[in-house]
Amino acid sequence: MPDEECVHIAAVDEVKRPQRRECEDCVKSGTRWVHLRTCQECGGTRCCDSSPSRHATRHARESGHPVIASAEPGERWLYCYPDDALAEY
Ligand SMILES: [Zn+2]
Ligand SMILES: [Zn+2]
Ligand SMILES: [Zn+2]
Repeated sequence: MPDEECVHIAAVDEVKRPQRRECEDCVKSGTRWVHLRTCQECGGTRCCDSSPSRHATRHARESGHPVIASAEPGERWLYCYPDDALAEY
């Protein structure tokens, strides 16, 4: 990992990829998503802040899981909520 300023991103040694390409909370509630993010703590995949429900951010706030990875094909970055830090990998 290049340029780690944040201990949470530095602690990720293998990036978790999405198991399914869908937001697990949107599937339950029948809402739609725009982009997907995968939690690096529990591996859950949820929707981004451009999506109406913003489930990834809500999950991070409720669970305290700090780091998400983009689950979009071709995007290789991690984001830490508490540090507001973005790192490509
Ligand atoms: Zn951090
Ligand atoms: Zn969602
Ligand atoms: Zn999580």
